[in-house]
Amino acid sequence: MNGLAGATVIQLTARATTLARKGQLWFYADDATPGLDAARQPGLVRLRDPDGRDLGLALCSPRSRLALRRCGPWPGDGVPAPGEFLRARLGAAIASRAAFAARDGGVRLIHGEADEIPGLVVDRYVDCLVVQVGTAPLEAMRAELVEALEALCSPRMILARNDIGVRKLEGLDATVRLLSGHRVEELTIVEDGLRHPVRPFDGHKTGFYLDQAPARGYVRAHARGRSMLDAFAYQGGFALAALAGGARDALAIDESEPALLRARDTATANGLAGLETLAGNAFQVLRDLRRAERRFELAVVDPPAFAKSRRELEGGLRGYRDLDRLALRLLAPGGLLVTCSCSHHVTLEKFEEVLRQAAADLPFRIFLRARLGAGPDHPVSLTAPESEYLKVLVVERAG
Ligand code: SAH
Repeated sequence: MNGLAGATVIQLTARATTLARKGQLWFYADDATPGLDAARQPGLVRLRDPDGRDLGLALCSPRSRLALRRCGPWPGDGVPAPGEFLRARLGAAIASRAAFAARDGGVRLIHGEADEIPGLVVDRYVDCLVVQVGTAPLEAMRAELVEALEALCSPRMILARNDIGVRKLEGLDATVRLLSGHRVEELTIVEDGLRHPVRPFDGHKTGFYLDQAPARGYVRAHARGRSMLDAFAYQGGFALAALAGGARDALAIDESEPALLRARDTATANGLAGLETLAGNAFQVLRDLRRAERRFELAVVDPPAFAKSRRELEGGLRGYRDLDRLALRLLAPGGLLVTCSCSHHVTLEKFEEVLRQAAADLPFRIFLRARLGAGPDHPVSLTAPESEYLKVLVVERAG
C-alpha cells in the first residue's frame, strides 16, 4: 500500500470535487465514490475527481468520520513513501520560517493543514521539538516522522504532547511520550529580549502560547506609562510584555496559582518591577475590581476557548460578551482593550459582533484600533478559513 507508486486511489463524488476545487480540505467517507474500500489502513492516498483527474494527495483515516484530509499536490500519479512525503513537507515548512525563527526562541514549525500535513503540529523551543499528532495516518508514520525531524533539526528532544481530545475521534490514546533524546522538563526561550520559561511536558498547549507573539508585541508597543490588566494571564506573557514596554504596573489574574508564581519568577528573572498577581475566577475578579473603582489604561482578556464545539457556540458567545463588557467598563478614558478568542467556531465576524454588543449603551465611545491574529509561523490558508482560529481585537475608549 503506502510506499508503492500507483497505490491507493480514492475517487471523490462530483459534489465533493466542486468543493475540493474551491479549496475545501476535509471530506467524509461518503464523499468518496464508491467508498473507501481501496484504503483499509490509515495512510496516504491519491485523490481523483469522477473523470479521473488528479486532486493531489490526502491522508486517509478509514475509521474516522472525517476520513480524508487533503495534503497538496505530488508529482506523478502514485503516492510517496511516508518518509519521502514527510521529509519534503517538513523541509518546505521549516525553510519557510527561516527568515524569522530565532535560534534562541520558540516557533511553530508545522501548522497542520496550512503546511499540508493535516493533523500535525510541531513547535520548536530552542533545540527541543514538541509534536502533536492528531490523526491515525500520521500516527502510523511516527517512526518516519521522528527520523525526518531528527535529520532536519538535530533536536535535543522530541516530545509527543498527544494529550489532546481529538485523538479519541481517530481511535488513538491521549498520552505524553518522549519520542527521542533526553527529557527536558524546563527551558528558556527569548522573545523580544524577554526570557520566558517553557515546560514542554506539563505546560499549556505544547508549553507556551506561541500564537500570541504578535499581540504581545502590540501590547509592549502600547504600554508606556500605562496601568495594565492581564486577565487569564497564565504565566503572565502579556503582563511581562507590558512591563518590558514601560507599563507603570501590571495586574495578572488567573485561576492557576502555579502559573502566577511562574509569572512572578519570570518578572524577577527579567528584572521587571511592578507585577501584581491575583488568583481567582477572572469573571468575579473583574466585577470586584469594578466595584473597587479600579481603572486600567491597557487591558488584555485572553480566556481559554469558550466554544470548543458548535454546540457550545451560544454559551461561548455569551461568555465573550460578558467579559468584554466587564473589561470595557474597567478602562480609563483613552484606555485600550485587547480581547482574544481562540475558539475555532467563533468567526471574526461573530467575535466582532459580540464586542459591538458589549459596547452598546456604554456612556462613552469605543473605537476599533486593530485586528490581530497569530503570527506567520501559524499560517492561514486563504481557501481554508478554518485555519484562522485566533482572533484578537483592539479597541480604545474615547479620551
Ligand atoms: N494569556 C496567556 C494565555 C491564557 S490561556 C498567554 O498569553 O500566555 C487561558 C488561561 O486562563 C489559563 O492560564 C487558565 O488557567 C486560565 N483560566 C481559565 N478559566 C479561568 C477563569 N474562569 N478565571 C481565571 N483564569 C482562568
